Amino acid sequence: MKNSLKYFFPKILYGLALVLMGFLFFKGTTIGEIFIELGRDLETFLIILAAFLLATSFLTSYYEYHGFGSQDGIVRKGQHKPLVCLTFDDGPSLKHTPQVLDILKKKGVKGTFFVTGIYVDKYPEIAKRIVEEGHDIGNHTYNHRGMASGKRTILSELAKTDEAIRRATGARTRLFRPPRGFLGGAARKLLLNEGYKVILWTLSTLDWRRVKPKTILRRVKLFVHNGAIILFHDNGSLFGCKTSKRTGTVKALPQVIDFLKSEGYKMITVSDMLRSLEENEQQDDIVGQSTARA
Ligand SMILES: [Zn+2]
Repeated sequence: MKNSLKYFFPKILYGLALVLMGFLFFKGTTIGEIFIELGRDLETFLIILAAFLLATSFLTSYYEYHGFGSQDGIVRKGQHKPLVCLTFDDGPSLKHTPQVLDILKKKGVKGTFFVTGIYVDKYPEIAKRIVEEGHDIGNHTYNHRGMASGKRTILSELAKTDEAIRRATGARTRLFRPPRGFLGGAARKLLLNEGYKVILWTLSTLDWRRVKPKTILRRVKLFVHNGAIILFHDNGSLFGCKTSKRTGTVKALPQVIDFLKSEGYKMITVSDMLRSLEENEQQDDIVGQSTARA
């Protein structure tokens, strides 16, 4: 009951917003007119506009990182245990992925790489190394295309990447991460039908902004929690030369791993986290059944 309420709550909110807009429309008031009315008092108008923008950006970022309620097939975080996942997007990159792999090997830690098919085809031997060294590999589309691209494009991006991964590594993956983490309802259903598990994150290191290593470490220190899925990028070539360097990520990674170890966190792959989530659900079911019988 609690779960279904969580699921319907955002829909109720959307529904209420639609009813309200419908009411205003039938009254002959448009949103524009409300703003014009407010605009007569410029100061009030600006305050309301600022509040509106602030609320929208807050809700967007909240939705991106936490979602509203539970959504079938989307995994944002693991269990409430000191287990975290290090995830690396957009690779493989000729320069940075081998550096990241060297660090993970030296520290004895496994990570998860959400690769783009185009770079798997370009550097198949690096993709192979990811799998051979025991890391997880996931699909991040072929060309880093957004999930608003239409059904046919999405399906082709998924299939081409799966095929590239299989050709290079022999592995089959059911893990998927949408570029930039944005995903509409239709794309979610499509991915679910195709049998993918959509993996988002709870902690972005913001390394795509080419921040300093100490900023990456500070963000991890500030925001890490049990079950965190931490987002890094091991390739920037998709976004042009301006943000293509990932030296910050490479420099920060050993410090991040040392910090997590010192705090008692164990770093596991996304597949291991999913397995532990499933086991937990089964245990909950057994407890639920015995409570129901009692
Ligand atoms: Zn990406």
